[in-house]
Amino acid sequence: MNIILLGPPGAGKGTQARRLVEERDMVQLSTGDMLREAKDSGTDMGKRVADVMARGELVTDEIVIGLIREKLEGAKGGGFIFDGFPRTLAQADALGELLSEEGQSLDAVIEMRVDDDTLVSRITARSTCGNCGEVYNDQTKPIPADGRCTSCGGTEFKRRADDNEDSLRTRLMAYYKQTSPLIGYYHAKGQLRAVDGLGEIDDVAAEIAAILD
Ligand code: AMP
Repeated sequence: MNIILLGPPGAGKGTQARRLVEERDMVQLSTGDMLREAKDSGTDMGKRVADVMARGELVTDEIVIGLIREKLEGAKGGGFIFDGFPRTLAQADALGELLSEEGQSLDAVIEMRVDDDTLVSRITARSTCGNCGEVYNDQTKPIPADGRCTSCGGTEFKRRADDNEDSLRTRLMAYYKQTSPLIGYYHAKGQLRAVDGLGEIDDVAAEIAAILD
């Protein structure tokens, strides 16, 4: 089963994708994570996208489609969770083509709905474990007092450079202008399902599970 988690920054796509990886043995394909890895390891592509990402704008379709193509080519079994991809109509078309070239299909697109105020407060309070990526929130899920990640025991935590109010405004605008048309695109294909992304992590996970089952 291959699915897309669609929603604005802070909707909980990464958190839910991690749950699905643990519980269903699916594979998370996050273009944001791939681009951050390229940036951190200093590849040419990483250097080219660093400023664009810091500003909160979208990197080119060509780059992200190339990243996804590499992961899908020759992949066996499927079970992909597309997290943060596609973000434009051109990317959505390319994904459809790549999947059909691999003899695979898209089973569901899950739109995670969250209001803007919640997105801003989640993102500005967000940090992650530097080792396993577990997500923390200063208010609702603070880093434990002993400074150890609840998931892996790691002791280093980081905040994303683009999790600040200026970049976030640009990221939200990019979502509404360039990504939200995908809601209509997948609705028209009969593949769109929406969940309320405002609930507790377990409740959102249960809604997603009900759709997948
Ligand atoms: P994310 O971790 O999904 O919030 O992505 C972080 C940043 O990476 C975005 O603000 C964009 O600059 C870039 N990015 C990630 N995925 C894509 C994509 N599918 N298309 C264009 N840019 C992307």
